[in-house]
Amino acid sequence: MMKLVRFGSAGNPESFYGQGGKSSLEMPKWLAGMGLNAYEYQCTRGGKISVDSENKLGELAREYSVSLSVHSPYYINISSTEPDKIEKSIGYILATVNAAKNMGAGRVVVHMGAAIDITRKEAMGISKRTIYECLKQMDSEGLGDVSICPETMGKINQMGTLDEVIELCKLDERLIPTIDFGHLNSRGWGSLTEQQDFEEITDKIFNKLGDFRAKNFHCHFSKIEYTKGGEKKHLTFKDTEYGPDFEPFAKVIIKHGLTPVIICESAGTQAEDAVIMKEILEKTKQEEKA
Ligand SMILES: [Zn+2]
Repeated sequence: MMKLVRFGSAGNPESFYGQGGKSSLEMPKWLAGMGLNAYEYQCTRGGKISVDSENKLGELAREYSVSLSVHSPYYINISSTEPDKIEKSIGYILATVNAAKNMGAGRVVVHMGAAIDITRKEAMGISKRTIYECLKQMDSEGLGDVSICPETMGKINQMGTLDEVIELCKLDERLIPTIDFGHLNSRGWGSLTEQQDFEEITDKIFNKLGDFRAKNFHCHFSKIEYTKGGEKKHLTFKDTEYGPDFEPFAKVIIKHGLTPVIICESAGTQAEDAVIMKEILEKTKQEEKA
């Protein structure tokens, strides 16, 4: 399959329900109708659909050429000092990877959790051992072809700076970073404004993780309100105060021939704002040709 930049929605937007949509199984067709080609299925609160539904969602996604990813539960903490929490977290990740496998989804997004009463460095050590154990179990259960995608996080007290995500991904080639630009902008109090700000991020991935992952990373993009502690709440593209804007990142995509999967996590308008990003990328390409 030819590599292309993909745009899609995190979960089901308000307009989908507004138009009478009911089941996630209707989403691939609905997204394709919007001109989109990626869908991040949300297992974020642990809700699980039947294996039949997972298979069916996968079939429909393939029929409409929509690539699927799955977001694992928010309550996972791969950096915990409590062995039973680690064991549970591995179980949740494995369950999400299983769901992804049933859907034919290649990517599972995972949060790193928090360093509680330990240093961030110690938490990194624990998270590496946890993910290593996940990969081992995935291999032994025939799930090794699904990629775990650790995410950069928006709150300062959460694990998941860019460097921490990259360090974790160095563990195994199958680990693909989820770069959430809204989160990085939030924990940097508005650090992403110019093309160069985005390019520093992609350069770092090129240098530390190599070409394939630098070109094909997973991406969350939305505007997010932040405070001193980082992320506060997800906004929509109507916001003009917080950012980040997509335009400078579009230039980086074109300059380096990147083909990320870009999932929009706007509050309610995920699909509409994904379409806006797709249009900005097209427009930027045209302008650079002219
Ligand atoms: Zn996330």
